Amino acid sequence: MTQRSPEAQQYHALYRTALWKQLRLAQLAREPLCHMCSETGVVTAANTVDHKKAHKGDLALFYDPENLASLCPSCHSRHKQRIERGGKVVRFGVDGYPV
Ligand SMILES: [Zn+2]
Repeated sequence: MTQRSPEAQQYHALYRTALWKQLRLAQLAREPLCHMCSETGVVTAANTVDHKKAHKGDLALFYDPENLASLCPSCHSRHKQRIERGGKVVRFGVDGYPV
């Protein structure tokens, strides 16, 4: 059995709060298109809300509407994987070069 750290369990609970659900819907209504795709000129519907700055359990950052970005599922998982691998987030423009 894999055990999450107490911190991870705590973060997870934040995503189940009514306030977060409300913020998430408000963010998707305000920015319905994927933030990362639109930077490279691609229009994709977003369905995931991500924190621009990792909140690490910081409630002020977690609930800060200015710290939210709408992402599509593929950008979200790509973004998360890079961060988890400790790599730099590199995005590619329409011309194929990093932006
Ligand atoms: Zn995207």
